[in-house]
Amino acid sequence: MTIASSAIGSFLLGLWGLRFGFGDGLAGMPAPAMMGIIAGLCALSAAGASMSFFAGVDESADYVFRETQLDKLTGLLARAPMVAKVAEAAAATIKTGEPVYLIDIDIDRFKHINDAIGYSQGDALVHAFADRLKGLVPDGVTMGRIGAGEFAILYPDDRLRGSMEHLVERLIEALMQPYQLASHLQSISLSVGIVAMPMDGVDPVQVLRRSNLALQHARAKGVANWAVFQADLGRVADHRQWVESELSTAFERGDFHLHYQPQHDLMTGKVVGYEALIRWQHPERGMIAPMEFIPIAEETGMILPIGAWVLEKACNDAKHLPKDCFVAVNISPVQFMTKDFVAQVRATMGKTGIEPARLELEVTETAMMQDRDRAAAVLKELSNMGISVAVDDFGTGYSNLSYLIDFSFRKLKIDKSFVSRIDRDSSSGAVVSTIVGLSRALGVSTIAEGVETEDQATLLKAAGCEVVQGYLFGRPGPLRIEDGRTLPVLDEPELRVASLH
Ligand code: C2E
Ligand code: CA
Ligand code: CA
Repeated sequence: MTIASSAIGSFLLGLWGLRFGFGDGLAGMPAPAMMGIIAGLCALSAAGASMSFFAGVDESADYVFRETQLDKLTGLLARAPMVAKVAEAAAATIKTGEPVYLIDIDIDRFKHINDAIGYSQGDALVHAFADRLKGLVPDGVTMGRIGAGEFAILYPDDRLRGSMEHLVERLIEALMQPYQLASHLQSISLSVGIVAMPMDGVDPVQVLRRSNLALQHARAKGVANWAVFQADLGRVADHRQWVESELSTAFERGDFHLHYQPQHDLMTGKVVGYEALIRWQHPERGMIAPMEFIPIAEETGMILPIGAWVLEKACNDAKHLPKDCFVAVNISPVQFMTKDFVAQVRATMGKTGIEPARLELEVTETAMMQDRDRAAAVLKELSNMGISVAVDDFGTGYSNLSYLIDFSFRKLKIDKSFVSRIDRDSSSGAVVSTIVGLSRALGVSTIAEGVETEDQATLLKAAGCEVVQGYLFGRPGPLRIEDGRTLPVLDEPELRVASLH
């Protein structure tokens, strides 16, 4: 482009000189003189053009760099040049022995967020994320965008002030603050994987694969987690791949079942409801825990047919539960965010004939925070339909509580991570009391999950918590129906989590 425009420029300038510079005076000029002037003018304009051409070399180098090396949306390095940087860093670290860390940061379920909010808002989110990231890392630290919602940072050890743990937690905390987009405030959660070169490898492709393995491992642990690569993660990845490929066959084969866990009212001692918990009974591999396959089903979209099945089965099973008990169904954030979620609930209620008062949906804070306005509208519709919603895993997601005022729900479900420590550490006790106080101010009730000891139950009762659920009162188990009578659920043996075999 630069060359072509220079050539055209010199030609035009020559003509312009002919036409205006000398005008009609040229008419009487002898031919050789005229040719000389034309040649001179052309040379002059060519010189000017070549100057601009050489100036353009710098510009075009910049241009070529921007076009080929940088990601257009964020201005960070694109994937291929980032891999090249990892290779450079690996070569340097072999020579010097100075460690370099590769930090892989991924926005959880970015594809679903993008689908839900539209591509232009999705781009705005990525842009804002990258800007924030740039402000958080010092100069001399290389960053790239290596996937749609995935970013990599090459962090030399000598730039690290304090520990890696401190750095990563600071990054996660800052990057997870909500993003103001044109239409709404968007919250995200992140998973982070870390690899150290040269300890964990020096082949750039392998190093990137390993940071991603660590990231997947972090994601499987839950919201806003990070993990450092370990050698046995390869096996976990194989297992993950197996789960992914097996899920739809399992669904069609009918491997999935529901177990139910009772929820007890502490004042009356009565069971008030049952939480439906999915179980995967694989014909060869035995029982596979939900934490092993739900996150994968969420990523692949299999959660939609599975979730629809759970809802329908639980609504049908409610017929076999005592009349004054409700059934509580876990709703994945992916399900909750689909456009026809409310319509699906309505259709299932129509099909199964369940009374709305006997259905409770457990939705996590994370699900509600993805798009607050839409979540508020969905919750309002559910509430108008007479369905109760419990905020699941309460206290583990976002500390910003202001959203609670906009949301219609009936219950806060205190996460078991607080309950398990309530009798040992006073800050957990304080968290529980605060949640109970908060729920009273909001006019909603509380339930505590994961109650395993008498001490925990006593402390929860003292804190004002009304309903409890946990191994102390009953493990999840299958519904047993004999001669039309429902027998108490049979306690299941404890589920193995992360079984790799
Ligand atoms: P959750 O919703 O927080 O469910 C509570 C988990 O704690 C269940 O694990 C339950 O078996 C376990 N639990 C109950 N009482 C105790 C106790 O006293 N101590 C301890 N340590 N654990 C207790 P489970 O069944 O393995 O499910 C794990 C997670 O998988 C659930 O966490 C939920 O997030 C998800 N999940 C389960 N079923 C479904 C489903 O049908 N749909 C969706 N979307 N997610 C589900
Ligand atoms: Ca739950
Ligand atoms: Ca929980």
